[in-house]
Amino acid sequence: MCHLTHSFFYPITSVLHSMRQILFTLLLTTSITLIMAQDHHHSTLHKSENNQTPTYLEVIEYYQAISNESQLVQVSEFGLTDSGYPLHEVVISNDQSFSPNKEKIVLFINNAIHPGEPCGVDASIQLTQSIVDGKFTIPNDLTIVLIPFYNIGGGLNRGSHSRANQNGPEEYGFRGNAKNLDLNRDFIKCDSRNALSFNQLFTKWSPHVFIDNHTSNGADYQYIMTLIATQKDKLAAPLASYLTNTLLPDLYQQMEAKDWEMTPYVYSNGSPDNGIRGFLDLPRYSTGYAALHHCIGFMPETHMLKPYEDRVESTLAFMESMITHLATTDTDLKTLKQEAIQSVYPETTHAVDWVLNKEKVEKLTFKGYEATTQESEVTGLPRLYYDHNQPYTKEIDFYNTYQVIAAVSIPKAYVIPQAYAKVIDILKANGVEMQRLESDTTLTVTMSKIKSYKTVDFPYEGHYLHSNVKAVGGSRQWTYYKGDYVISTDQNARIYLANTLELSAPDSFFAWNFFDGILMQKEHYSAYVFEDTAAQLLSNDAQLKAKFLAKKEEDTDFANDAKAQLDYLYEQSVNAEPTYLLYPVGGLN
Ligand SMILES: [Zn+2]
Repeated sequence: MCHLTHSFFYPITSVLHSMRQILFTLLLTTSITLIMAQDHHHSTLHKSENNQTPTYLEVIEYYQAISNESQLVQVSEFGLTDSGYPLHEVVISNDQSFSPNKEKIVLFINNAIHPGEPCGVDASIQLTQSIVDGKFTIPNDLTIVLIPFYNIGGGLNRGSHSRANQNGPEEYGFRGNAKNLDLNRDFIKCDSRNALSFNQLFTKWSPHVFIDNHTSNGADYQYIMTLIATQKDKLAAPLASYLTNTLLPDLYQQMEAKDWEMTPYVYSNGSPDNGIRGFLDLPRYSTGYAALHHCIGFMPETHMLKPYEDRVESTLAFMESMITHLATTDTDLKTLKQEAIQSVYPETTHAVDWVLNKEKVEKLTFKGYEATTQESEVTGLPRLYYDHNQPYTKEIDFYNTYQVIAAVSIPKAYVIPQAYAKVIDILKANGVEMQRLESDTTLTVTMSKIKSYKTVDFPYEGHYLHSNVKAVGGSRQWTYYKGDYVISTDQNARIYLANTLELSAPDSFFAWNFFDGILMQKEHYSAYVFEDTAAQLLSNDAQLKAKFLAKKEEDTDFANDAKAQLDYLYEQSVNAEPTYLLYPVGGLN
């Protein structure tokens, strides 16, 4: 099986120029793996029955083998990851066409973003094998694109203990990637090469439906499979309606018919008896990112305490149910996506942030276990306990309506200085069409001066994330330079642009520290010198003096703070730095 030899050239060649010792070790490992690989992909298929999941290298080897055997599957490298190993793209199609095609619906599946939750890795192998064996048929107008193993660095960091609350498999990878980032927070900021490659791959295919396979944490209950769907209130109206009224009911019904009854993801404070909430999947998360591109996303979350084999089987059943839905639905998802894209153009304002509406509650039939409080053997204090001898079926509250708390009006175009090269790279990875200024140009643009914002006390996923940004917008003349970027918002990426470039969006590039240079003054002043300038300022400007004295009168802290008073006058002087707190992204109207 020469293709297997080929499959192992990547790791060898990648280090060929470094140390002989490493090369020797790799060759040795390779030989061992090659011997194991003789009938490898067949044994891989049954691993979950033995409470096992394949390693990253075994997974890639399986797909390379199957793509050599079958006309329906193509596997190729697509971009880099932080580990040094490339990302892989597996494409499954009946007609041996493995390129994006506007006539086809695209189902995009991601696995092992959290390698400790590898159900999707095994289930995707089983799905591919059943398609190749003719046991499960996919429709001719469907292309399946799957990432067999996304967090490769985490996958290589394999062990048996990092999922403290999970029931199998015996060995699995770790949540943090090669840079110890949680990749399911990285879709906007793209700190990892994995995320940038993902952005590019997602853009290449522009999928209609997205599945990102996970395993839960949290409460105990009877279900093996739980489901996070993209928060409906964040989607364009045509997609929200289709998701709620057509797709979700069918998925729940199909899964129940297959004896894998599902429940919405159990997002609760303590026991689910107190009610559960829909999850607000911000754009940093996979499905939230997909939603910015008008793609309906799902995070199936199998329950951590159920046997691994059942978790894999239910994940497979979910993906098959999705494909069955796509094969049988009367709705043309290609048209639906176009309707969604078109529907946002006439809107004058676009929502970018939401909060749970606690007034709107639905009832949900839920199969749980009675939760009681017992005395803890460890602490002697009360602890939560789920009694498996007391299963119940009852109605619980389900809060799944989010209301808008921030909406923006989108300009005809954004102007971004080329200085912000990382932002430009990410926009390009998302297929954003841009033009460049042909010469230095002074434009009349709307710009925002930041008045206040909050910042977390400790780094969150490598960043001091900002939130609650308050800014005052206004029109001003601003000079941009030859090569700076002008980005029309009259394009498919309109919603993506609003959610990444507007200051009130929780996952904007500003929130993720891409513009922190503006948050600090660069020149400022020396107080003993500026005292005289300030005195002059007051004697020259009667109006300013009146305002200043009034402020001293009504604000005791201000009256007793010399620095605050000098700062106040400095900000209103010609010496004030225009760039300080001025968000450099302009809006053109
Ligand atoms: Zn997860």
